[in-house]
Amino acid sequence: MKTVLITGAGIGIGRSTAIAFSKKGYNVIVTDILKDEGEAVVSEINEDGGAAKFYYLDVTSTENANNVIASVEKEFGAIHTIVCNAGIAHKVPLDQLTDEKWDYLFDIDLKGMFKVIRPALGSMKSANTGSIICLSSCMGVMYGWDEHVHYSSAKAGVVGLVRGLANELARDGIKVNGVAPGYIRTAQLLSEEHSLGKEGADKAGSFIPMGRIGEPDDIADVIVFLASHEARYLTGQVISVDGGLGVGRY
Ligand code: NAP
Repeated sequence: MKTVLITGAGIGIGRSTAIAFSKKGYNVIVTDILKDEGEAVVSEINEDGGAAKFYYLDVTSTENANNVIASVEKEFGAIHTIVCNAGIAHKVPLDQLTDEKWDYLFDIDLKGMFKVIRPALGSMKSANTGSIICLSSCMGVMYGWDEHVHYSSAKAGVVGLVRGLANELARDGIKVNGVAPGYIRTAQLLSEEHSLGKEGADKAGSFIPMGRIGEPDDIADVIVFLASHEARYLTGQVISVDGGLGVGRY
């Protein structure tokens, strides 16, 4: 049984991704800073006949990341797939964007990916197989997002991380790809303080070519595909999954 580890998997896209991998027969390691939500995802999977386990993992902590990866490897062997999903999208106008706020977002949205991937690479290389999938954003690959400059920058940085790592790990049998979601109905998007809010999310459907904003499952299924054998020759790419948002005229 292949093991997948997902960060920020208690809610939103991460939660749906955990459930989608379980349906494909993976052993699912659900990690998050949201303990109750993460445990609930694990219960849901296990009650449905799948295999899942929760670990508290704050992706800003090198020690936490190293310990979780070591524990998972001890119990289950090499991790096959890592989904670097944890992220925040804080709205901060530039005149209020302190060094601390910039660094905090980068520590989660970009550096946090590297911290989780790094300790897993030894055993993934030995297994000579594996897949890493990192969450970017339409705001990192297509659009600029006002009052979210640090977010746009970090998500653009994910593209560089994916390309560099894909090259470095290709001969070790490890694929590295990204997904850049458009507008997806999650707590992040529905935040009135930091993002579109409910009304904005409802309006967005009208200018997206497919006529609706995305659901977490729309992203999860593409992530599962990227990890699969069907995507065996696909590496170094960041795939936009946005209902046509990026190619639409409005
Ligand atoms: P979400 O619903 O807010 O879920 C993100 C999860 O990550 C939450 O459980 C969150 O906990 C957790 N998290 C925050 N800081 C963390 C840390 N230091 N360590 C570990 N986990 C942490 O977000 P989502 O919408 O599903 O987004 C998932 C990913 O897709 C993110 O990288 C996001 O930027 C990206 N994305 C989303 C959209 C969208 O429209 N939703 C669009 C483009 C890209 P808290 O709730 O406590 O913060």
